[in-house]
Amino acid sequence: MPELPDIAVYGEALTREIAGAVLQRVRILNPFLLRTAVPPIAAAEGRRVAGIERLGKRVVLALDAAAGGEPWFLVIHLMIAGRLRWLAAHAKPPGKIALEAMDPGGIDVLSCDLAAFTQRLASENHTLKRALTNPRLFSGIGNAYGDEILHRARLSPVTLTRALDAEATRRLFEAARAALVEWTERLRGEAAAHGGWPDKVTAFHPAMAVHGRYGQPCPVCGSPVQRIVHADNETNYCARCQTGGKLLADRALSRLLKASWPKHIDDID
Ligand SMILES: [Zn+2]
Repeated sequence: MPELPDIAVYGEALTREIAGAVLQRVRILNPFLLRTAVPPIAAAEGRRVAGIERLGKRVVLALDAAAGGEPWFLVIHLMIAGRLRWLAAHAKPPGKIALEAMDPGGIDVLSCDLAAFTQRLASENHTLKRALTNPRLFSGIGNAYGDEILHRARLSPVTLTRALDAEATRRLFEAARAALVEWTERLRGEAAAHGGWPDKVTAFHPAMAVHGRYGQPCPVCGSPVQRIVHADNETNYCARCQTGGKLLADRALSRLLKASWPKHIDDID
């Protein structure tokens, strides 16, 4: 699933490729892609692309106004599969394109202020990891950047949102913004090194601090990265940096190990 840095870099690549160009033709390969019947999509043809914007997880193509009319916007949601492909002119499009889900309405941490972030975070009492990655609360943060943000903020993934004090909330807000900005810059640099188009959108990246790095040393303190296994993914964290050394019970594993389950990072390093 694309997260905010991926979308930002797509927007920049699109700006380089098509800003100022005239949209010649729109072909809809999957009928579920098109959400608006009026005006007809073909009426967008012949308009100039004035600019590319990002709206949460959506890429927006702003089109010039036709004579006497209003500017138009083509809004592309990258959905679950999350890849935007760039093909040479007249290349055959890929056959299978997966689509899912409407925009769930989360706010964008790069454009909201601390007050809005705080209000959104406390709107439901969930663990920090669940709240950050809930697309109804926040836009563009998935499992990968959720782990990275919490590590940067030095906060436990299982702390409850309503238990967070003002100082920790500010730290989380600043960590979220810093992580997303830093990763956007990193992915931008990598796209530039690969001909300008971000072709490598992956859930794991070797430069991540904890996400996907179970058992490897935390880049801050050197302790092995820990994990909590969920049904369809896992949370990675550093016990020394984020939980005061406490190992969070992984339900399956702790049941298996019962009494021998280590409770503190010092018991295993
Ligand atoms: Zn650490």
